[in-house]
Amino acid sequence: MTRPLRIAVIGSGPSGMYAADALASQADLDVSVDVIDRLPVPFGLVRYGVAPDHLSIRSVRDTLDKVLDKPGVRFIGNLEVGVDVSLAELHEYFDAVILTYGASRDRRLEIDGEDLDGSVAATDFVAWYCGHPDADRATYERLIPSATSVAVVGVGNVAIDVTRVLAKTVGELDETDMPQHVLDTLGASTITDIHLLGRRGPAQATFTTKELRELGELLDADVIVDPADLAFDAASDEVIRTDKAVARNVEVIKEWATRVPARRSRRVHVHFLARPVELRGDDRVREVTVERTALDGSGGVTGTGEFTTISADFVVRSVGYRGTGLGDVPFDARRGVIPNTDGRVERDGMPVAGEYVAGWIKRGPTGIIGTNKKDANATVASLLADRDSGSLPVAPAGTIDEFDALLAGRGITVVTTAGWRAIDAAERALGSPAGRDRTTIHERQALIEASTN
Ligand code: NAP
Repeated sequence: MTRPLRIAVIGSGPSGMYAADALASQADLDVSVDVIDRLPVPFGLVRYGVAPDHLSIRSVRDTLDKVLDKPGVRFIGNLEVGVDVSLAELHEYFDAVILTYGASRDRRLEIDGEDLDGSVAATDFVAWYCGHPDADRATYERLIPSATSVAVVGVGNVAIDVTRVLAKTVGELDETDMPQHVLDTLGASTITDIHLLGRRGPAQATFTTKELRELGELLDADVIVDPADLAFDAASDEVIRTDKAVARNVEVIKEWATRVPARRSRRVHVHFLARPVELRGDDRVREVTVERTALDGSGGVTGTGEFTTISADFVVRSVGYRGTGLGDVPFDARRGVIPNTDGRVERDGMPVAGEYVAGWIKRGPTGIIGTNKKDANATVASLLADRDSGSLPVAPAGTIDEFDALLAGRGITVVTTAGWRAIDAAERALGSPAGRDRTTIHERQALIEASTN
């Protein structure tokens, strides 16, 4: 082949960027990588998922951004695969396609009242406060300044993020890149109580200690734990003994249970053994019915038949992300992943050369950002092995010009790396007068306009 190997990466979150990086970093490989995203801006959950007040984690975007400077790597934003161009078409223009579009939907609680007004998925709420173009701004501008008591269901890191953002003063959030309208809405919040609901015990929670500790260090919120929730069984003792991270979590929670509230403006109530069974309300959610659970000795819980209600006029369901299918790519709906062997997509149960998967859509929504680097590298290793063995197909229209001509012929306005650089500069300029690193531009049209300046 006289032209470069042409690879399309679908999704510009961490796994997509790490895959592009792995390809561009190969010595002696003439490669051209287009990182395609349906949004006009890159970096997926690093931009629209990592909590805006976690500035050091968010700075990962600087690392990811450098990948776009590498020779052969292009960002192609505002291009939706399955809408603007089909996956089958991409195979005509690229020798291989790597699917890294993540897991952007919410898992459901499957309980009555889940769809009452005021009950939202954490995926949507997080998208709103990060300034995602698809966020339903009006809903949060209505709910937050009229809510007093919130239930956050789940005790993973996303639940902790959501709780912290709701519990912080606007002064504590001021240095973030949240859009100004988000800061204004959070500043108008009438919320006084936030209930974090874990259905199992403290030793079974999935949050990490650093994130947990922050909840106990907020300027104007007390954290409250009922000592009755500090239940441990043999399985808990074993995991505390063998897993240092769990032991540290439990220490933090035990210390909180001894605290005397300091009469701060907000209270974060951390509940364990509390399983939501129903959301109740009228024109809006008003309360959560919670069943007390008991540890079953093997890491799980059973219901006790004892029910209580928690007042909540805003409920954030933070029980995990969920992947979705794309076109005719095989999809395991139960696990929310694309079936694969070492990153090769399986069709009819057999791995196919030319179609790959990495990140959350490969292994499910777990792990930290860095987990995706190892994962993407492994997938790229499979792709390169297929190339070396001669099993990678050769795309019939595999030049950059041919692909660009396809898009131009359809009148599609894509945002290129240069366009993203212009958006980046516009966001930095917007944040600068307030002493912020940047302020996120949230409307899609405004992003596209900024990309042409
Ligand atoms: P997660 O860690 O899987 O937590 C989901 C939570 O929802 C668990 O507490 C789970 O309880 C609970 N849950 C699930 N189904 C439930 C139900 N029907 N009723 C009540 N509770 C239910 O997921 P996540 O918080 O969405 O985070 C996703 C990934 O991103 C994780 O790997 C996380 O560490 C990572 N992340 C990291 C950071 C960070 O490093 N700062 C920040 C955000 C996210 P059970 O355990 O009992 O199922």
